[in-house]
Amino acid sequence: MTELQFLIEKIRTCTSCGLSKTRTNAVPGEGPIKPQVMLIGEGPGYHEDQQGRPFVGPSGKLLQELLSSINLIRESVYICNIIKCRPPNNRDPSPSEIKACSLHLDNQILLINPRIIVTLGRYSMSYFFPGETISKIHGVPRSWKNLTVIPMFHPAAALHQNKFRIQLQEDFQKLGLLLSSELTGETELEIDTPKQAHLF
Ligand code: URA
Repeated sequence: MTELQFLIEKIRTCTSCGLSKTRTNAVPGEGPIKPQVMLIGEGPGYHEDQQGRPFVGPSGKLLQELLSSINLIRESVYICNIIKCRPPNNRDPSPSEIKACSLHLDNQILLINPRIIVTLGRYSMSYFFPGETISKIHGVPRSWKNLTVIPMFHPAAALHQNKFRIQLQEDFQKLGLLLSSELTGETELEIDTPKQAHLF
């Protein structure tokens, strides 16, 4: 068993917080190791909880469209969430649930080793840049440790309000530019330096 397989199994059987009692399935995440992009959402919803896979409901459909707008396929990126189990009735995750799950995510980032992390929604953004506001920093790539992190709005917000959909579409185009500049070695987007570092 690889270290990643071991971690995935640990997540599937985790009982570190109360969400383990109400979940149908834990949703560890999926995708290749060493991808160009790792997308980190908030937490599983109904469909994800049923299937044990991330972003398989309406938000996932939009995510797939956004990825294909920059010529990426779902299978080429790693997709996971801040918390791995569905909160009842899709309520917001609590600070203690996020903390309980953070060890899994820290290990996952180390083992997956992506080039760029895209955070989807404010909970995911706060994990890397606590105290920031998503409406201010979305779409701006920032250095975090040896990685580049781009905060974006959550696809669920984009499904409810067109202004968020437009922002998300624009931010994905910026991600596409960043990826192509990495390929050609040209720096087309300025990268912010982080104001606060998240400590493992
Ligand atoms: N929303 C999320 O944040 N993650 C999912 O996996 C699905 C919906």
